[in-house]
Amino acid sequence: MSKLDIKQLRKVYNRGTDTEIVAVDDLSLTVDDGEFLVFVGPSGCGKSTTLRSIAGLEDVTSGSIRIDGRDITGQKPKNRDIAMVFQNYALYPHMTTRENMSFGLRVNSMLDDDEIDARVNEAAKMMGISELLEKRPGTLSGGQQQRVALGRAIVRDPRVFLMDEPLSNLDAKLRIQMRAELETLQNKLGVTTIYVTHDQTEAMTMADRIAVLDDGKLQQIGTPLECYYKPANQFVAEFIGSPTMNFLTVERSGNRLVHDAFEFVVSNDTVDLCGDRTALVMGLRPEDIDLGGDETTNAVSGIVEVIQPTGDDAYIDITIGDDTVTLDIDPEQSVGVSVGEEITVSFDEEGVYLFDPQTEATIKTNTELEPAGPDGSDALDTTTKP
Ligand code: ADP
Repeated sequence: MSKLDIKQLRKVYNRGTDTEIVAVDDLSLTVDDGEFLVFVGPSGCGKSTTLRSIAGLEDVTSGSIRIDGRDITGQKPKNRDIAMVFQNYALYPHMTTRENMSFGLRVNSMLDDDEIDARVNEAAKMMGISELLEKRPGTLSGGQQQRVALGRAIVRDPRVFLMDEPLSNLDAKLRIQMRAELETLQNKLGVTTIYVTHDQTEAMTMADRIAVLDDGKLQQIGTPLECYYKPANQFVAEFIGSPTMNFLTVERSGNRLVHDAFEFVVSNDTVDLCGDRTALVMGLRPEDIDLGGDETTNAVSGIVEVIQPTGDDAYIDITIGDDTVTLDIDPEQSVGVSVGEEITVSFDEEGVYLFDPQTEATIKTNTELEPAGPDGSDALDTTTKP
């Protein structure tokens, strides 16, 4: 049973010099017992530094890290009861799989040889690598090496797993397979896990909760669906979701949102949310824009620039005034559409997001999913993954 508490964690590189870098900026969050938390954000946002600080591979500038109430901030890595899995696997090339998996236990535990062997055999079985126990890493494929690295973490029976982009060296197909396997494994073992990735799809599909980071700061922590439908700010709205949300600059005049190329009428509820603000950024998810529409549906016209069928969907880029907007529609609907053509699109107010252009704070999120059922609970079941 392990809960991880991070309080006001700060890591500054090159302290006191002209080139100070605040890699982690006052980060506070709690990872619940058995939870699968994913840190996601663009390259350089501080994900690895945070993970390495938790593992004890970096000295933190200030703040604290606790496991089940015990302060581990100044502890040596080996005393933290944490196992880390790296992107490059970090296996010892001269050791067999068995030796790689048992090395940590031999050095850092009081277990005898039989107990170590039993643990290694069990973890190897779990990871499907029993046949590889006497082989060296150089003779294994990337996927097999990653299984060994995971097996090595499992034998430690740690309180917390830390995983730093563990699947990014695998090819696309294997990555998807390993995603599912890792998720099943984590559910089975119930070990509190922090997983780092820059890939929002990986975060959305695997996480119980996602922590979105930018520039060393926590932007939002929530379930994948919360981050998708209720982003805390424009950064999260843009980062989570593929294709990304479209953003249009509008000026509110009463209950009309005025864009260079169209006007969109909104309800009094939305006007209330805007307060005094007149300058706004309108956000539209590609799947919330429909082909067709007339004057009763706030129709907007645009010129087709690009059509990209993906099999399940078709992405169509259109220009509306000076803005390019991506639509995600059924491929059948895209059949009659051609590049250069003027088409009409429409969208509902429920699917319109609004942001403050100065602070990037969210003013209005997707309201299609609320209010919910007869008991008044939120329709958005935030406990599940998409
Ligand atoms: P991410 O894992 O999200 O890509 P990192 O945690 O690796 O981000 O890096 C966060 C910031 O800290 C970046 O600006 C990076 O250049 C800087 N940084 C990371 N490691 C060091 C280091 N050892 N020395 C100086 N700056 C570093």
